Amino acid sequence: MLTDSFGRTITYLRISLTDRCNLRCVYCMPADGIRWTPFADLLSDDQIVHIVEVAASLGIRKIRLTGGEPLVRPGILTLVRRIAAIPGIQDLSLTTNGILLENLAAPLAEAGLKRVNVSLDTLDKDKFKRITRFGDIERVWNGILAAERAGLSPLKLNAVIVRGLNADELPALARLTVEHPWHVRFIEIMPIGNTQEWGRGFPDSGTRYFSMQEMHSDLAVLNMVPVPSPTGSETARTFRIPGALGTVGFISPLGEHFCQNCNRLRLTSDGHLRSCLVIPEEVSLRAALRNGEPLEQLFLQAIANKPLQHDLLVSVPAGSQLGMSQIGG
Ligand code: SAM
Ligand code: SF4
Repeated sequence: MLTDSFGRTITYLRISLTDRCNLRCVYCMPADGIRWTPFADLLSDDQIVHIVEVAASLGIRKIRLTGGEPLVRPGILTLVRRIAAIPGIQDLSLTTNGILLENLAAPLAEAGLKRVNVSLDTLDKDKFKRITRFGDIERVWNGILAAERAGLSPLKLNAVIVRGLNADELPALARLTVEHPWHVRFIEIMPIGNTQEWGRGFPDSGTRYFSMQEMHSDLAVLNMVPVPSPTGSETARTFRIPGALGTVGFISPLGEHFCQNCNRLRLTSDGHLRSCLVIPEEVSLRAALRNGEPLEQLFLQAIANKPLQHDLLVSVPAGSQLGMSQIGG
């Protein structure tokens, strides 16, 4: 079992399959993208499978594939199939912008993927295009419906909430759960990645943060009731609109961060282990992978470095300018 210096048991590895993406969400990336990691520096399928095998032997039980956009990685179905077959891995999920999901949902489910989280910040076609810079919301919507048909459940929809951009849509997004058994989760915007620089026509950095408390107060009209957490390690506080099929969750990485329950480790697409999304210390697996050396000690080192908590409300740690798409959000 992997336990860190503060007694937290680490069972969850989030893997960034690529830093590339087919969208350019304003809070995540500049309009012209980032300097992509050269293909030669991205982990190969064999390397990822090997890393997951080692992780599983150490006690990792849950894997989430993310990015960048994980569905743009060539050969994604084969990789999912290989990871799903690794003994010890009980839960394999993926976070996606949904653009390529319509055609991939059924084959992903068949390959062993259990569930997906789809990012959807707005229900408005034009606003979606503005936030993602060129995305087509209909493709995402069709992707969500295809995921549901394919049995990729529970289906979670994640919305990053920004004052002056989509905060007015909180009730409409929450009401999706009335008729659909989906979990809509509202996420506070984090001051990392492109949030400092996202350009003209968007809310400025002084006003855009919209706290979980403000979200609750805007949703008070829905009379939501709390849903108890089954495991205690969830990042979201969960509620239900009376009679609704799905739930509404709040993820508050700033206002009420969940560091005390954090059971995660992250693997960047170029082969570095990170024990915290925010704090930039990394352990490189690259040399060991290249030389065929054991990885176990490096996992233990990454976990020994795991900080107790971050405090993004107070300051953004120096050297943590990488965006979500680079670390694996
Ligand atoms: N491309 C996939 C997607 O968009 O779902 C997976 C990677 S994306 C980096 C993962 C999540 O990070 C998305 O839900 C996105 O909204 C979120 N994200 C990106 N930048 C963020 C920021 N500055 N603050 C909060 N969430 C952010
Ligand atoms: Fe791409 Fe996801 Fe970042 Fe949007 S949030 S630019 S979809 S990686």
